[in-house]
Amino acid sequence: MKILKSLFLSLCSICLLLLIACNSGSTAETNSTSANKTLNIESNVISQDISQNTSEGENDFSNISEKDLSTIASNKQQAESEQQAESEQHNADAVLEDDGEQDENIVQNDIDLRKLADYNYIAITFDDGPVSENDEKLLELFSKYNGHATFFYNGYKIENDPDILNKVLEQGSELGNHTYNHPNLNTMNAEQTLAEVESLNDLIKSITGTVPVFVRPPYGEYNQVTLDTLPYPLVTWNVDTRDWAELDVDYIRDSILGAPPGSIVLCHSIVNETVSAVEQALPILYEQGYRFVTLSELFEIYEVEPKAHYVYWFPSSPVIDE
Ligand SMILES: [Zn+2]
Repeated sequence: MKILKSLFLSLCSICLLLLIACNSGSTAETNSTSANKTLNIESNVISQDISQNTSEGENDFSNISEKDLSTIASNKQQAESEQQAESEQHNADAVLEDDGEQDENIVQNDIDLRKLADYNYIAITFDDGPVSENDEKLLELFSKYNGHATFFYNGYKIENDPDILNKVLEQGSELGNHTYNHPNLNTMNAEQTLAEVESLNDLIKSITGTVPVFVRPPYGEYNQVTLDTLPYPLVTWNVDTRDWAELDVDYIRDSILGAPPGSIVLCHSIVNETVSAVEQALPILYEQGYRFVTLSELFEIYEVEPKAHYVYWFPSSPVIDE
């Protein structure tokens, strides 16, 4: 009996030891799993907080960008939610310190995206379209980064390609007026100038129901008659990719990459190389913290109201021709 009892006790001890060993192992796992869960939860909370229409994980950052714009436009109203977001960021930071390797990229992306002040915004613009094949590719590229662009179309080209206009607007990009026939406005009187712009606005309105905000004079050429006549803000650019002349993907890409924050970049969607250059430039710029916006969004971000009879080449520096 003694022998049996001691055998029983020994067995119990072994079981107990095994139990302790198992428990400590599973505790470690639980901690790690819990950290992962916390990370995922934080990530979800941040995503939900910032994006209203998150559908798929891989698109989370896109929706966040979309929200960023409205956040900037209504900073004061968002103050409360930003405070909440900030405290969530601290939580996420704390979790990251505990378990730096797990899901760091996902959470880090979310955190970086919420530092609104750290963003660099540029408006990439495409003249001389529509060229629907290229424009549709560009829209897809910008959508990938929840970016928007501005397309300055000519009326005589829209006649053959009207469907693209609504696709541009549906994507969130902007339409601009590049005159009906692409003349040098320096050579035109007031009546001709007005006709060039208004006939295109009428056409765009008949297709989309809306009228563009901005006019871009062909060749960037305008004079006092142009400014006095047109009841719209004119916009040129501060970065010229010279895509139409260079026809070189690397050159065009590097021009876009060299754009300082707040830039208005001139491209032409009629140039096939430009589409490839944009495809290469967007991911690099995005990684650098650039976000791609329409001209109207850029002006809103810089809190500049575009005014008729002014020319803008950079939103914070309107040029007034005397
Ligand atoms: Zn042009």
